[in-house]
Amino acid sequence: MAIKIYNTMSRKLEEFIPGGEPKEQITDYPPVTIYSCGPTVYSFAHIGNFRTFIFNDLLRRYLKFRGYSVDHAMNITDVDDKTIKGALAEGITLKEYTDKYTKIFFEDLKKLNIEPVEHNPRATESIEEMIDIIKKIDEKGIMYNSEGSLYFDISKFPQYGRLSNLDKREIKAGARYDADEYNKEDVRDFALWKAPKENEPFWETPYGPGRPGWHIECSAMIRKIFGKTIDIHTGGVDLIFPHHENEIAQSEAAYGEKFVRYWLHVEHLLVDGAKMSKSAGNFYTLRDLLNMGYSPRPIRYLLISAHYRKQLNFTLEGIKHSEQALERIDNLIVRLRDIKKEEHNFNECDNLIAKLYFDFTEAMDNDLNISGALGVFFEFVSKVNTLISEEKLSKNDAEKIIAAINKLDSVFGFINFESEEDVDAERIEALVQERIQAKKDKNFKRADEIRDMLKEEGIILEDTKDGTRWKRKK
Ligand SMILES: [Zn+2]
Repeated sequence: MAIKIYNTMSRKLEEFIPGGEPKEQITDYPPVTIYSCGPTVYSFAHIGNFRTFIFNDLLRRYLKFRGYSVDHAMNITDVDDKTIKGALAEGITLKEYTDKYTKIFFEDLKKLNIEPVEHNPRATESIEEMIDIIKKIDEKGIMYNSEGSLYFDISKFPQYGRLSNLDKREIKAGARYDADEYNKEDVRDFALWKAPKENEPFWETPYGPGRPGWHIECSAMIRKIFGKTIDIHTGGVDLIFPHHENEIAQSEAAYGEKFVRYWLHVEHLLVDGAKMSKSAGNFYTLRDLLNMGYSPRPIRYLLISAHYRKQLNFTLEGIKHSEQALERIDNLIVRLRDIKKEEHNFNECDNLIAKLYFDFTEAMDNDLNISGALGVFFEFVSKVNTLISEEKLSKNDAEKIIAAINKLDSVFGFINFESEEDVDAERIEALVQERIQAKKDKNFKRADEIRDMLKEEGIILEDTKDGTRWKRKK
């Protein structure tokens, strides 16, 4: 049985063959090479962005679950129109500005239990590689210089538009575009390298001073890290045009070989049934939701739970339903841990677990059908709950079942296996007392520090008229 994934390029479900050559065993394959377009670090990432990043995480976790090894890169765009504008507005250097948002971005990933990937190249650290690829494009005569900026000449690359199915008639030959982002109605030559404007950062190159366009950075970093055709390239559907179309044009023009085998694109996220926008008041960053009192775990659950090629409607009500779903799982783990019975009188445990793995894999192999896989899992949760109520399971059965759930969670990443006893209550109590004293001493800085530190650990303090209570955040 093989994994099937939907390739935006062919618009079909295709059998997944890493490296392009079928092998006998999964373990015979070379590591699966994946590139995911990362954030532009000009602001806090919003939950629509995180839907895509959580999908990337699901993809790599599932490939590992199936026995593949992965070699995954996600870039950090730390120079582009938006970051430059932001740094100028705040009167700080581009590096100071982007370092701040890069740090915040990685903190957010950690909160959402998104695994670190093998490579996180930064655009500003890959300028040399960008010039290398520009030179190659130049040698092929597919580029021209206009007032110090370099443009890709799409009329000399006849394959242009295959990924996004562009109607060739829309292409305006000779018309140019400087902006990093533009829409499908506006098919023009795009900037590989931009002449510096006043107050903008620039790099000296054989083509003169300037700074990179957004698209060249991904092409350059993929070459730098992988050096050849990669297996999977992911991103949100909004990146298909122009960003990914331009990446293909640059890389295939420069190196004359296939750029990417499988293109995977994640659909939009809606909030309350509408496109998320600041003006509509339905725009959320992860921090907004955490400040409203929601935990990262149900947010991860909600963002992962819909199939990636379907639109997901995010609502606060949806987070509450996710909390309930997680509570069902948490309660099952508690019930399983409570089982003390030693004697065996149930012979179906191994079969039950084997069926769980089989059905879960069958669903996920079908284009990462997570909603189907979650259906399989909750059916299993119900069955096990019934078996516990009927007192059929032994301690040994319970341990096997917990191990199986743990294995599935290597893909889900949202189940809590910590028991209440894992929390060091004595230490927390001491910190709570220290905070009360600090407040009495009007040392509010220390009091806030303690509150924030415990919050990081998932401990919530509640100041009531009877004193301070603490609880674990679920
Ligand atoms: Zn990209």
